Amino acid sequence: MHHIYETLVNAVRAEYLSGEQDYPWIIGFSGGKDSTLVAQLVFAALMDISPSRLNRKVHLIANDTLVESPLVVSHLMQSLQEIETGALIHDLPLKVATTTPELAHTFWHLLIGKGYPSPNQQMRWCTDRLKIQPTSRYIREQVTANGAAIILLGVRRNESEVRRRRIDSYQNDADSSLSPHNSLVGAYIYRPIVDLTTDEVWELLSSFPPAWGGDNSRLVKLYRDAAGGECPIVLSQEDAPGCGTNSSRFGCWTCTVVEKDRSLQGFVDSGNVQYAPLIDFRDWLKEIRNDQTLRQSRRRSGKITVANGRLVPGPFTVAARQMILERLQATEKAYGARLISDAEIEAIHRAWAEDLIQQNQREYISE
Ligand code: SF4
Repeated sequence: MHHIYETLVNAVRAEYLSGEQDYPWIIGFSGGKDSTLVAQLVFAALMDISPSRLNRKVHLIANDTLVESPLVVSHLMQSLQEIETGALIHDLPLKVATTTPELAHTFWHLLIGKGYPSPNQQMRWCTDRLKIQPTSRYIREQVTANGAAIILLGVRRNESEVRRRRIDSYQNDADSSLSPHNSLVGAYIYRPIVDLTTDEVWELLSSFPPAWGGDNSRLVKLYRDAAGGECPIVLSQEDAPGCGTNSSRFGCWTCTVVEKDRSLQGFVDSGNVQYAPLIDFRDWLKEIRNDQTLRQSRRRSGKITVANGRLVPGPFTVAARQMILERLQATEKAYGARLISDAEIEAIHRAWAEDLIQQNQREYISE
């Protein structure tokens, strides 16, 4: 294991020092095992470079959907804090940042303010707005400021492919270490742990504590209690096959795309009953989605949609949206912590007022 770790740190170190331009590195950090290992390798590599050669800026960015599973968010925030402090102590050019969706695109604003029906497989309106756009915006800003940026991801090939490649005599330089990003012009992807197996990732994390301090026991416990899985940083719809499926157990706590929130349920089952109100709310939200009495016949644009001779229901009615907000606020009380911000509530009230004014105008015109 020692040999693998050293080889990986050396490869990251060499990559950092390569290239004529010091385009910034951006580490997509989810707090899960893969991106933690990447962050750890980068940190160790930076510590191994003399200060005069630390000319490339490294950004470690985490995205907070504002409806993150509470299990993940506390681990994530603690990790960010530890990394930031470590970078400060060792005087490394590493900046920690959190991205969030715009107020107009938060889960609550779209669901309760605009009445979007809770997301499902056919209408997954959330991934782009909650995850892809905030991260992409940060990357684009860096590309604009520096001419290009390199994104470090903890993605890995699937296990059988790793084995096959190793049998085919593994050669790292068969691929260039950077590949252009599909949709973000000027952004390149670097995947430092692409050829590791899941077992190797765990072995490395448990054998080598992060250079910023502490160890990875909180991470190990999180996975154990939440029954594994993770929701990696998401940069495009193709990157997100696991987002909102049962293989992603660390998604939003509100996710109605999955049948059951297995990670939170796992926590409740292991005695953390404080999360039970969140599960109840999510289950209820999923249940009411297709209740026609809670949906408008018209879309917000005023149009009526008919498919296969049947009316396609529009958004939740304003009365239903009010009911959802009330239930969410009751859930907050039962849970004992905020689940929606004051800014979101204000934006929701404005969206209701706009919709009611438009509905009244339509009725007035048709009379
Ligand atoms: S975890 Fe679920 S709710 Fe969150 S962005 Fe993914 S699909 Fe949407």
